[in-house]
Amino acid sequence: MSILAQSASKRIMDSAASDNTYYENLEDDREVGTGKSKVQETSGRASSSTTFVWKILGFSVILTTLVCCMLYLFVFTRSTGKVLHISDLHYDPLYKSNALNHRSCACNMVEKQNCTASDTVLYGRVGCDAPLKLIETAFESAKSVIANPDFIVFTGDAIRHHSSVIKGALPDKLISLFRTISNLLTSYFGSTVVVTQAFGNDDFQKNYFFNTSKNCDQPLLRDVLPVFQRGMPDLAKVDTNMFTCGGFYSVSVSSKLTVIVLNTVLYSVRHNPKMSNAGQVEDPMGQFAWFDETLAKLQQDNIFVWIVGHIAPGYESYAMEPMWPNVYTRKYVSIVTKYARIVKAQFFGHEHLNTYRLFESGTNVPSPIIISGSISPIFCNAPSYRVIEYDKSTYDILDFVSYGSDVGEDNWSLRYRFSSEFDIYNGLSNTEMRKLTDRMRNDETLLKKYRMRKGDNDKMPYPQCGTKNDPADKNSELCAIEHLEQDAFEECVSNRI
Ligand SMILES: [Zn+2]
Repeated sequence: MSILAQSASKRIMDSAASDNTYYENLEDDREVGTGKSKVQETSGRASSSTTFVWKILGFSVILTTLVCCMLYLFVFTRSTGKVLHISDLHYDPLYKSNALNHRSCACNMVEKQNCTASDTVLYGRVGCDAPLKLIETAFESAKSVIANPDFIVFTGDAIRHHSSVIKGALPDKLISLFRTISNLLTSYFGSTVVVTQAFGNDDFQKNYFFNTSKNCDQPLLRDVLPVFQRGMPDLAKVDTNMFTCGGFYSVSVSSKLTVIVLNTVLYSVRHNPKMSNAGQVEDPMGQFAWFDETLAKLQQDNIFVWIVGHIAPGYESYAMEPMWPNVYTRKYVSIVTKYARIVKAQFFGHEHLNTYRLFESGTNVPSPIIISGSISPIFCNAPSYRVIEYDKSTYDILDFVSYGSDVGEDNWSLRYRFSSEFDIYNGLSNTEMRKLTDRMRNDETLLKKYRMRKGDNDKMPYPQCGTKNDPADKNSELCAIEHLEQDAFEECVSNRI
């Protein structure tokens, strides 16, 4: 386009130059009295002026068209939306800032021997969940980098581990903790921003607990609904029946995008109490059927979808063990594959690590599973949140920027931008992330960088956090990224050795 503009410009300049020469010659002729008539002079001058005006007009049209094209490209293909993604806050109201660096002393309500008040740490410790002060500083930092997010993605675990040590009746004590976090979000981001919040395994009365035998009689879900509704100002767009029954729901966040929030605790290998026909139940609480029906309708209406959940399918990053029984993983993969055209993003948490999972190339699912780090530093990861950048016309994920603070400090800063850190400049698609994984197989420096960014703490792993001294072997780690299903994962590990 600039070559066209340059050539048009050159033509105008050339013709303007020749016109000037003509006038100069005319003046010269007059001076020397060559006898040209005034009629001839006037006629020549008028014709030349008309040509000049037409050329200028032509140039203006070309220029205007170019500017319009560039504006169109900028506005309709380059417009970037921004979403705040937070995960695994694990708010601990019992955190003590002046106990020893030991989980049983610093994080539980019962003081034990060996605790002293000499070591004051306000913003959280390795091995502990997050004090309110840490969550406040995280939100304050987020507010300073993204004051008005398009909406907020919250991939679960608002409440600390082992919440049974907190006194109080159920479900009220949990609801009061949910309310504290919800009010805090409102105080920083206002009351109109939509919060798409999933339930994590620690958000229920016991870890991984969801009593499916009670069907839709779920007191916690029923009573916590008003708290979640604060984050969904447009109630008409929210399916509250599914929320109060199974803890899953969908919310329309724009005319072109709906967020489906799943309760994936139902699919965890650690889910309890065990279902009477454990391992055979194909669809706990009817969530898969609802997921399929909801996607079918959205596809019919040409509406894009982002999926938000807590525990992702596939293998976890610590011991490389499956997080869902394979039967559920296969079901999830088949549904997402069926609606691949509209599923533009899949966000999960739970691992407290920055990582991702891929779909097999043959599925044509364009979006990978993107797993976020946590605000709780319990597993020695640096507290973090991220800003997701997406294309506002296609809702594809373009990039994310991770912000973090050192454990125990309030020094939030930009830690890394994913695209420039890992040389991915065409968006975070399944295809591009697969290329990154291939590069990591052959580039030890890149793999090391990925491992460091997983917890964003170069001191990881700490043995005292229950993480291994040595990182998982390279094959297991990369095969877990590349394959969600058991057979494919095992085949990958055995073939690569
Ligand atoms: Zn968690």
